[in-house]
Amino acid sequence: MSEFELIRDGEQTWDVVVVGGGTAGLSGALNLARVRRSVLVIDKGEPRNAPAAGAHGVLGREGISPLELLRLGREEVASYGGRVVSGQVTRISRDGAGFRVVTEDGQHLRTRRVLVTTGLVDVLPDVPGLAERWGRDVLHCVYCHGWEVRDKVIGVLGNFHQALLFRQMSKDVTLFLHTARELTDEQWEQLAALGVAVVDGEATGLEVDSQDQLAGVRLASGKVVPVQQLVVAPRFLARGGFLRELGVTMREHPMGLGEQLQVDASGFTGVQGVWAAGNVSDVLAGVPAAAAAGTTAAAAIHMDLLKADAEAAARAAKDGEVFSGAMEAEVSRRVLGSRAHGLGSLPGGN
Ligand SMILES: Cc1cc2nc3c(=O)[nH]c(=O)nc-3n(C[C@H](O)[C@H](O)[C@H](O)COP(=O)(O)OP(=O)(O)OC[C@H]3O[C@@H](n4cnc5c(N)ncnc54)[C@H](O)[C@@H]3O)c2cc1C
Repeated sequence: MSEFELIRDGEQTWDVVVVGGGTAGLSGALNLARVRRSVLVIDKGEPRNAPAAGAHGVLGREGISPLELLRLGREEVASYGGRVVSGQVTRISRDGAGFRVVTEDGQHLRTRRVLVTTGLVDVLPDVPGLAERWGRDVLHCVYCHGWEVRDKVIGVLGNFHQALLFRQMSKDVTLFLHTARELTDEQWEQLAALGVAVVDGEATGLEVDSQDQLAGVRLASGKVVPVQQLVVAPRFLARGGFLRELGVTMREHPMGLGEQLQVDASGFTGVQGVWAAGNVSDVLAGVPAAAAAGTTAAAAIHMDLLKADAEAAARAAKDGEVFSGAMEAEVSRRVLGSRAHGLGSLPGGN
């Protein structure tokens, strides 16, 4: 019996299905499980920072292996009764007041609410050999890796702002103009004043030494410029295509960094019952910010479910009970009149 067959046993409708089990998804699931929501996390198992040796800037767990952090998270979710399974969600459609979730292997599940935490794809510059080194000596984020590469020979591919960020970490920074737009006079002046070398010409490949360490950037001219680390600026593409049918759409990031789902401060997508958190709706979120967004969305989902449950309970009481609360109040009013609450007849009462 597969994991999914176990879950479908009894045709359960989950309170929440979380799509994606990275930091955002597991944090959301942990908080939902702790308030006694039935929660299922479906995770394809490819967190964005998997190639990195450590997750940095994570208070209390500084430098922990990204995969170990998620392993611990899965254990914590399970310890409160949440379920985490491997799988890829390919489609989500409306099913009455809830949703039907379909996975790549054709499983169907029902859920009342959806939390989307599928992260993003880093679209890397198209330089041969670059993608293979991603997360090791090809980097993008000064907060994630800056300390680890301090004082090294750093190249920056075509991005002025990245050059400034990494100049803080090393005196030996070269900006490769590659296919970037021309720099402004101001930018040239600032780079010169900070001692950042600027190299013209398109990068066509990377040089790697016998120890499998990055050794240089090869230019179209054939010249090789030595570097130990290469900083790039990927385009960030949120993984949200499978939500189109629900009317949840991607928007260009305000700073032109890529595309992400548009949500409010609680992670609500604007489509009833669907929340999103982490990199899928905030391409700049690091691990702590993704965790916080998952937690915030979980609270909003729980409140939405509480309201729905309370309304349903009141409706059921009205429809189903011979002697409802409202009827009881009306009978008391007719029988007891002004003595309805008895205050006037109590000793010392007015
Ligand atoms: C190389 C690198 C190093 C980094 N280092 C740091 C660092 O040191 N510190 C830091 O704070 N941040 C770091 N980051 C950023 C960090 O990776 C993100 O902040 C974090 O991963 C965001 O968490 P998330 O849960 O939103 O997405 P992810 O961690 O990417 O998790 C999304 C999960 O959803 C799954 N998924 C996707 N689509 C589906 C689907 N259709 N169905 C089911 N599952 C699906 C994915 O496989 C994945 O497991 C780094 C990023 C990179 C690229």
